[in-house]
Amino acid sequence: MLNEPCKPVCPDVSVVRGRSPLTPIASGNVKYFHFSQNNTGGRFSNSDDLAENVVIAARSAKEANERAQALGVYFDGVSKDYDCSCCGDRWSEAYQDSDSDAVPSVYGTTLVEYYVNSTMRAYNVRKVTIVHNADGTRETWSRADVTP
Ligand SMILES: [Zn+2]
Repeated sequence: MLNEPCKPVCPDVSVVRGRSPLTPIASGNVKYFHFSQNNTGGRFSNSDDLAENVVIAARSAKEANERAQALGVYFDGVSKDYDCSCCGDRWSEAYQDSDSDAVPSVYGTTLVEYYVNSTMRAYNVRKVTIVHNADGTRETWSRADVTP
């Protein structure tokens, strides 16, 4: 399905919505788990579903890890020989249910704060974040105007 552009949150930020391949889950007690991609081997491995930051709605860390893997995330990449040992694992799993936020966030910062009001370093704001919601929809957040 094609992504439909929606109104940007502000002139600098674009949020593109679409449907993810993930199966919807019940929305009660959903938390948002942030998976930060490490650019092992000097590159990111991105797709329609995966970016530098991936945020997944789930009811537990276990469910978040399962949904992440359904999108192509893998864990223990160095020991499986997918990732180079000097750079480390590309993805790390969520260990605890409390490793989560009530709203989609990266490093505990809400996406509006991160992209719109950000006082973070420009490099971070240039990263793309894809949110996978409980209903199976996907939002891609980016801010292309910021230069490092
Ligand atoms: Zn390396």
